[in-house]
Amino acid sequence: MRFWFCTSITFEKIKMKLLALNIFLLLSIIASAQTSSSNLSYSVIELHLDEGSLYEYEGDEAYSAILIDPAEECEFEIIQENQYFRIKASPYVIDEHLPESFIFLSKSKPAFSIVANQDIDFKLHFYDGFAPIQISHPANKKTADCDSVEAIDQSVWRAGLPEPVPGRTEVEVKHCIIHHSAGSNSVTDYTAAVRAIYILHTETNGWDDIGYNYVIAQNGDLYKGRDPLGAADQDNIQGAHFCSKNSGTMGICLLGNYMETAPSEATISTLKQVLAWKLYKEGLDTYEAYPHPNASSDVLGTVAFHRDGCSTVCPGDSVVLLEEELLFDVHYDLNECRGISGIQEKQLEPLSFYPNPAHEVLSFSGTKVQSILEIRNSLGQAQSYLFDQASQSVSLELTNGVYYIETQLAGGTRSMHKFIIVN
Ligand SMILES: [Zn+2]
Repeated sequence: MRFWFCTSITFEKIKMKLLALNIFLLLSIIASAQTSSSNLSYSVIELHLDEGSLYEYEGDEAYSAILIDPAEECEFEIIQENQYFRIKASPYVIDEHLPESFIFLSKSKPAFSIVANQDIDFKLHFYDGFAPIQISHPANKKTADCDSVEAIDQSVWRAGLPEPVPGRTEVEVKHCIIHHSAGSNSVTDYTAAVRAIYILHTETNGWDDIGYNYVIAQNGDLYKGRDPLGAADQDNIQGAHFCSKNSGTMGICLLGNYMETAPSEATISTLKQVLAWKLYKEGLDTYEAYPHPNASSDVLGTVAFHRDGCSTVCPGDSVVLLEEELLFDVHYDLNECRGISGIQEKQLEPLSFYPNPAHEVLSFSGTKVQSILEIRNSLGQAQSYLFDQASQSVSLELTNGVYYIETQLAGGTRSMHKFIIVN
């Protein structure tokens, strides 16, 4: 690899900063680790950047990803393929499945620049799996049905990389935990990205294998994650993704950073299929919650986000915003798997209700509600209520919390909504 240090770049913002400070000190570059085995490439260098100075990499070798690992919390500006973004990086702890400072690179243009907003020592990890693997799948392929799920096998995506370390724990899954891969959204070679995560988890973290049970790419492709090695099913192997609280969980990672960008339709479609399939397989309900042995709160949903149990923004605000639609669609598909009729078509929009949060009365507007099918709390327990069809309102005596209401609308369609009670 070659390292270039240069103070002339095109970004005005950076240029101004450089002019103002005119300091560029790079004290040390130490190749502190270099592993080269089969198709694996993993190396670490140590760097020092003065505030506002620039580290620029333009190498002959194309890396799939880098990890910025500072000595203390620091903001970095990254310039990559004319895209500029800012990240906050903290000293890396191996408990993390993927930090924001793990950044996928475009392999065709492996150039990037880094500017720090303070004097900082940091390590820069380079990852690559030299993956000339093209995986093509027909568009709109159904990934899961009620009885099975189709996914790209480890033997395909992991080809040429070191094998995972044996030793697996079988778990009874009560919670499907959704993650995103954070970092940047520049990934275009999804298989290379999965390989880079595998190398991060096995080489940097020293884990036995990749942390997740499944990874979903932006094109909707589903990758098998942690290799069960014959111990149990793919979806019943304990992973490493939930801040050391992995018992009873199955981890699904969506490739991409979904703090500000919405996930693709293909990603969400595959996620819904996998969730409905898994809940059906385990006999779980969409709106249920169960105690989680190490969770900070009492219970955790059968479909939950990483942030529901750990101190993190994962899987990103844009995924969390989709919660209601996601659960509704999964609930619909799950009912279909169970042969429950009566839902004529999916419908989310025609019913609106107010206020939310509510206190003692919830009122409907828009499409007329014919009947209330049920109101449940976040534990899935049925709640009592009084429905007045004439005034299109429900009287409630509920304690503070999150509830789900399922209604039968005029025309026979059913609608599921979440509401909050604040007394
Ligand atoms: Zn996560």
